[in-house]
Amino acid sequence: MSITRKILIVEDEPDIVRLVEYNLRRAGFSTESANTGVDALKKLRTKHYDLIILDLMLPEMDGFELCRIVKNDRTISVIPIIMLTARGEEVDRILGLELGADDYITKPFSPRELVARVKAILRRVEKGYSSSEPEEVIRKGDLEIYTSKFKVYKRGLPLEVSVREFRLLLHLATHPGRVFTRERLLDEVWGDEVYVEPRTVDVHIRRLREKIEDNPSSPRYILTKRGAGYYFTEEE
Ligand code: CA
Repeated sequence: MSITRKILIVEDEPDIVRLVEYNLRRAGFSTESANTGVDALKKLRTKHYDLIILDLMLPEMDGFELCRIVKNDRTISVIPIIMLTARGEEVDRILGLELGADDYITKPFSPRELVARVKAILRRVEKGYSSSEPEEVIRKGDLEIYTSKFKVYKRGLPLEVSVREFRLLLHLATHPGRVFTRERLLDEVWGDEVYVEPRTVDVHIRRLREKIEDNPSSPRYILTKRGAGYYFTEEE
């Protein structure tokens, strides 16, 4: 399943907007346009976009100014920018790239080249995201624990677990076979919340079992070591 990427075109010349929109839509992207920097900022701060095509020559606020604002606003600064302009001098190109633009295309441009550059930048960005934050999945029996998303699936279906239950499950599952006392779990999962009774651990274990186990009274994953504490099964 592929997700449609949304591109914001910031340009005041309707003919150029139409040309860019036509070609990007034909290539499978969704597009919106803004004809001033102010309009663009309003859209950028209220909706999600995957890339900005930014004309340099705009009324009121020019493309350099808008680029600087976007790159200094942490909520939108990750959105890649392709600058589009009739001015092709070296100095503009360098200034644009220094301000954080990802690419630069001069008018007149070939629509095919524009589409190719958009695709190249999105690929680069997506690759960057996935290699910098690998999603670790821990698989135990029918369970899949997505460590950075705080999500647990059982036979492919999402389970509704609280953050605390998730952390408890993750802690146990990453130390299979090791028995944890209630006190130790309080220390390692609840941490600095010192006013929690050991009984709280039992309550959370029971709730977790109700969610992850087929038969909570005869658990397969989280087991009890009588007189000691709890441990996660060593069986895969
Ligand atoms: Ca313009």
